Amino acid sequence: MRRGPDTGAHGGAVAGTAEDTPVDGATVRTVLGDVPPGRLGVTDAHDHFFLRIPALAGQELDDPAAAAAEAAAFRELGGAAVAQWTPFGLGREAARLPELSRATGLHVVAATGLHQARHYAPALLDRIEADGLGAFFTAELTEGMLAGDDPDWPRTAARAGMIKVAGMFHGLDDHARRVLTAAAEAHHATGAPIGVHHEMGTAAPDVLALLQGELDVPAGSVLLGHLNRFPDPGLHRELAASGAFLAFDGPSRTHHATDWRLLDGLAGLAAAGYLPQLLLGGDTVTAQARAATGEGPGMPYLLRVLRPRVARVLGERAAEAIWVANPARAFSAVWAA
Ligand SMILES: [Zn+2]
Repeated sequence: MRRGPDTGAHGGAVAGTAEDTPVDGATVRTVLGDVPPGRLGVTDAHDHFFLRIPALAGQELDDPAAAAAEAAAFRELGGAAVAQWTPFGLGREAARLPELSRATGLHVVAATGLHQARHYAPALLDRIEADGLGAFFTAELTEGMLAGDDPDWPRTAARAGMIKVAGMFHGLDDHARRVLTAAAEAHHATGAPIGVHHEMGTAAPDVLALLQGELDVPAGSVLLGHLNRFPDPGLHRELAASGAFLAFDGPSRTHHATDWRLLDGLAGLAAAGYLPQLLLGGDTVTAQARAATGEGPGMPYLLRVLRPRVARVLGERAAEAIWVANPARAFSAVWAA
């Protein structure tokens, strides 16, 4: 079945949209196992403990002690869960995540999926695509993630709880289409949510047209990331009308030019009835941007600065929704496998 945008999605629960209350049997798949959505707590909906991409050489997130210090700083401010949007092949450190979660007491949702083609050696992509990308993602969601950045690494016991994909600047190339198509296949096999990197916040309409329009992924299982980097309020309302989750980033060292629009953007969407679909994450992508061991703002900024501001501008109920109730729905699924 093909779906167009849900009309009148806001103001009431609409089947298959982000506004549904958690369904019976839905759980959040963390690296330590599946947990009821109500147990997730205060969530950083998009961040990274470990990440290594060529574009940020020299600023890798590859230090377990620094990751633990950042996690502890977030925990100290009341943080309870972090979704790490690092896909396969980019220094995800799947084998270290359970230990990090246990040591800090944070729930950690990890990702399978792939980023844009430019972040990988072409030979690596050929190898994992040869055996079927959808099956590759599904195995990481159901059996466990590979321990390293190469398909030869052993599989860990830690399962991914989401699929990370990426669009291109104002469009999708062939690689992005293949990855999104494989993500839809893995979603239909498992129920997993799909988190999307949008280059400078663009191409979300293309992504939705493919995932929701052509591939029948319910919008409530799609998390559109980085939308704050293309701060067009009208576009954001159009995207919200689809029923998808809209994921905004906290202040970033590399995209700070749009930070000043964040609060107004959230307030406008909330006023239009889309509060249940809003998510916020820190998206810490460099060692320098860590708070505990770098120059900040890092993960703690989300709770130290942003949450009180959101509570002042949008109200405490809205802050509670953005940090607790919305991520609990966004990351939960009735896992088919
Ligand atoms: Zn990210």
